[in-house]
Amino acid sequence: MRKISIYALLLTFIILQGCATDNESNSAEEVNGQASQEEMESNQNSDLEEQDGEEEDQAGNVSEEEETQSAADSNAEESKEVEKEYQINESTWTVDPITDADPKVALLTIDDAPDANALKIAQTLKKLDVSAIFFVNGHLVNSPEKEEVIKEIYDLGFAIGNHTYSHSNLKDLTEEEQKEEILKVNDMVEDITGERPRFFRAPFGSNTDYSKGIAAEENMTIMNWTYGYDWEKEYQTREAIADIMVNTPYLSNGANLLMHDRTWTMEAMEDIVKGLQQKGYSIVNPDAIK
Ligand SMILES: [Zn+2]
Repeated sequence: MRKISIYALLLTFIILQGCATDNESNSAEEVNGQASQEEMESNQNSDLEEQDGEEEDQAGNVSEEEETQSAADSNAEESKEVEKEYQINESTWTVDPITDADPKVALLTIDDAPDANALKIAQTLKKLDVSAIFFVNGHLVNSPEKEEVIKEIYDLGFAIGNHTYSHSNLKDLTEEEQKEEILKVNDMVEDITGERPRFFRAPFGSNTDYSKGIAAEENMTIMNWTYGYDWEKEYQTREAIADIMVNTPYLSNGANLLMHDRTWTMEAMEDIVKGLQQKGYSIVNPDAIK
């Protein structure tokens, strides 16, 4: 008896410790704000380069096992007629209703696409009948196969967003360079899909007044995000990322979820979506965002 209760006590202690650690690291993130996010995204960039070689093969294979194209096409058509019921709040980056639409929604976004997993992620989301924005880095669209991946994701009904050409910090660039970083991707995406991106996400969430102006001229909605974890070492497993994306204390109405084209994120995607839905959140359709 006594042994059992000691174990129970220990277990409770361990669980409480776990929660405390999560909360700590999250609030730390908020306090550090931009700086820590910048660091994290730059970590993720070096990962990206290391993985590049191996991933191209995978992407090639994935694109061969495609879903039924006719169904996909008709879905892409349908999605453009969606009524605009939400807008991005530029101080919190949440997705807020502008009508009497359900406020309990979450937006899924996948950055640094297309690397090795974007198409798989799109196929998983399609199977689950939910939508997302894939933010494309122009320099990753470096082969006909990669162009095909963008086209397939678009044809499956997903929004293709602009994440700049080379993923540089816009604050380090001249105005001319910023313009090129942004417009090059819009031209590229339009060439591939026939439609210019409607959403813009600056690398590291680092917008400038000038880049905001360019985004506005291009009729793009700017967005950063409310939370994300998949670039942190401790969350680079299917189980860990699936758990934190659903059970983070930052999940709230209009949450804007930052995820990346990564293997563990791809593997966790179904659990993440189902976990959010079990908590009563609907996945918002980007076409319904102004
Ligand atoms: Zn990025």
